[in-house]
Amino acid sequence: MLVEGKTVLITGAARGIGRATALLMAAEGADVAVADILPEVESTAEAVNRTGRRSLAAVFDIADPVQVRDGVRKIVQQLGNIHVLVNNAGIVNNIARLTKMTHESWSREISVNLSGAFNMIKEVIGPMREMKWGRIINISSLAATGGLDRQAGYAASKAGLLGLTKTVALEHARDGITCNAVLPGLIETELVRQMPDEIRKASVYMIPTRRMGTMEEVGRLIVFLASDGAAYINGEEIHIDGGLRLNTTTLGSRKEVTEAGR
Ligand code: NAD
Repeated sequence: MLVEGKTVLITGAARGIGRATALLMAAEGADVAVADILPEVESTAEAVNRTGRRSLAAVFDIADPVQVRDGVRKIVQQLGNIHVLVNNAGIVNNIARLTKMTHESWSREISVNLSGAFNMIKEVIGPMREMKWGRIINISSLAATGGLDRQAGYAASKAGLLGLTKTVALEHARDGITCNAVLPGLIETELVRQMPDEIRKASVYMIPTRRMGTMEEVGRLIVFLASDGAAYINGEEIHIDGGLRLNTTTLGSRKEVTEAGR
């Protein structure tokens, strides 16, 4: 059991990678608090409870520091101090070239994806320091290192998360706390499955493994980073993308270029 006896808090756990990670954490022995802006997060808590582990669902907007403070306080009252924080909640609400991007949608992406993680860390770091043990795992994106066409707000927020990750790692290494970032490529979540078929096919062709990652593959990496075995991994940015970041598959091959164009 990789996280036995630990209390984990995962944001954005109503669905997708957050929900899958919650169930994997429970399978590895943790009690799991799940937070989301959507009330459907209750069903994740019920699923965790069915595994025999304790769970609690909390509905709040991570972009609002007051809601975060109240939400985390309630969780701690019921489940005890948080040993592992997974900052997973994130949004893409802003697919447009920079010239068409509104200030409002830019700000919301930064507020949720970057300030949301800051708000959460602020609430859990004090008790982690007292316990002399803590794991913070920030879910960034391949977009942080590669940029993303028509998603300046998203890419900038996810790149900002890397700076936050490394600074938390530096400031709290001596407190027994590690802070790492996970950078998924294209992961087959419920939402990604709904992409139009031709876009899915073209996207998968760009990935050297010729398949998307699964939610469980990302979840298993997060669980490992939360475990005692990962104590010396700190301030790291770990891609999990099937090699997509290498992006060299079509160079120098006429056949590959022709097939990609189909
Ligand atoms: P998802 O949209 O399926 O789940 C995200 C969850 O976050 C949702 O349940 C949503 O309600 C919640 N959320 C959104 N805004 C919130 C807020 N303000 N407060 C609280 N909760 C909020 O996404 P996913 O695909 O499972 O992605 C999870 C994380 O992984 C995100 O940070 C995303 O950017 C990142 N990521 C995903 C992929 C991918 O291919 N799926 C690739 C790279 C990075």
